[in-house]
Amino acid sequence: MKILLSTTIFMMLLTTVAVLAQDVPQYEVYVLRMAKYPPEIQFRFREVGDPQLATEMADKNREGIPINFVYVKGPEVNLLYGPGPTAEGLEYAFGPDVTSEPIGYLDHETLLGRLGVTLDQINYAVIDHMCFDCPSGAGLLPNATVIIEKEAFDHPNPLGLVMEDGTFFPFARQEDYAMLERIKEEGRLKVVDGDCEIAPGINLYHASGHTYATNFLAVNTKDGTVIIAGASCYT
Ligand SMILES: [Zn+2]
Repeated sequence: MKILLSTTIFMMLLTTVAVLAQDVPQYEVYVLRMAKYPPEIQFRFREVGDPQLATEMADKNREGIPINFVYVKGPEVNLLYGPGPTAEGLEYAFGPDVTSEPIGYLDHETLLGRLGVTLDQINYAVIDHMCFDCPSGAGLLPNATVIIEKEAFDHPNPLGLVMEDGTFFPFARQEDYAMLERIKEEGRLKVVDGDCEIAPGINLYHASGHTYATNFLAVNTKDGTVIIAGASCYT
């Protein structure tokens, strides 16, 4: 009798676990390429100590570095991770006419339109960091909760370049911080101090990398957990 009872409880537990597992949605993940860096920008290899090795590596990789955002689709979720720059965001660094080659910028509306998704359907946007090539697309999404790490929101992104004339070119744009303030006033900004669950099966993790305050996303899919690493590597 005792064994039978234990077995019954065990089977009930198993059933509960199985039901819970089924309740976690399986999402689809799309990487959408918006643009490429101009081919003369080879910053991946600039810090290589061996000049010959740097030249060899650059020779093998003359293709411009892609600028992507990630779209996560699920039953209750249309999420952009990145969320990718507007044309103005890229023009800040590269000058006018970013839609021409070699940059070849394509906007959010065009890329999402290919998947049958409109900007007003996006209900989450995760900002991975505050350089010019990342956050401004969040300003195009009228219905999105915009998520950012507390450290990234509280402290200006310090990254930039010292130009030949000695002036400092900051990678973060004032317009993007102003955009966040506007979204905050609208009650749509979610500032996360560390990790959080965005929705069942979508978890955000704080990770130092390109900046101290960047993050990565873990998404449940039919093929297992997909990690969207964003800028969470040292650069
Ligand atoms: Zn950056």
